[in-house]
Amino acid sequence: MKRFTIAVALTTTLMLACQKVPITGRKQLMLFNSKELLPMSFTSYRGVLDTSRVLKAGTQAQLVRRVGLRIQKSVENYMIANGYGKLLDGFQWEFNTIESRMVNAWCMPGGKVVFYTGILPICEDEAGIAVVMGHEVSHAIASHGAERMSQGMMAQYGMVAGQLTLGVAMANKPQQTQNMYAGLFNLAAPIAANVGYILPNSRNQESEADRLGLKFMAMAGYDPNTAPEFWRRMSKLGGGQKPPQFLSTHPADETRVAALEQQLPVALELYNKALPLVGRAPNQRVDATQVDNTATDSNVPGMGGSLRSNGAKKKKN
Ligand SMILES: [Zn+2]
Repeated sequence: MKRFTIAVALTTTLMLACQKVPITGRKQLMLFNSKELLPMSFTSYRGVLDTSRVLKAGTQAQLVRRVGLRIQKSVENYMIANGYGKLLDGFQWEFNTIESRMVNAWCMPGGKVVFYTGILPICEDEAGIAVVMGHEVSHAIASHGAERMSQGMMAQYGMVAGQLTLGVAMANKPQQTQNMYAGLFNLAAPIAANVGYILPNSRNQESEADRLGLKFMAMAGYDPNTAPEFWRRMSKLGGGQKPPQFLSTHPADETRVAALEQQLPVALELYNKALPLVGRAPNQRVDATQVDNTATDSNVPGMGGSLRSNGAKKKKN
């Protein structure tokens, strides 16, 4: 029975070894079925909320949720209209705000978003929140966390993974090798649920999330001109003594801003088309006085140090 289960898991893995990112069409290595990661992602997310100061009410939480719901709608409409609706199966969207001076935001697989209050003054208003929201949600839509985990596995266990992609039948493998495969899968899957926001993103993934995020925010009725402005503000913070955490996973530089500016005409076209349908999104300013800078850092789930060196090399953008 166990052998059968392993064989099924590996056959599934094999079939998923390569897939295309929706919309951009980029081919990505995928050794996981992203849907299998969802329960682990949801448990992980619950764990973060349970050990953090989650804002239940107030302007900040309301704005994050309002922007999240609009972006969710534009993502869903777009995905369904373009035949990618199935990729959103199992998503359970949530948009929470945690009180912390940390300048960060992330989205776990399955649409589980967290904003820390520390990033809100840099967002300035709802359109700024939409820039970050669109970008983070795009990482989840494009399964970037699972992709990075797959790349890490491939690098670490190149030979094993190589055999896997060559289609070596599992049933014929010696027991020891079977155990190794099963061990790898069990080890890697829970971690993959976390890497979506902990490990640095690759340059490809960052620009892909920018590109998708710009479209999603425009389709939700937020002015895409806000995106380069936001990243310019963010990059200014990078020169300080302690650059914000967001910058360690999202390096902001002139290349990034220039790429976004280049994509603006297409995004503006989408924006103008969307306005009669969805209406201009409300754009309330984030009240900076509400941000409690004395708050201690909330719990941030980490990963074992061993994984950091597990093939996820930091790339400069
Ligand atoms: Zn990113």
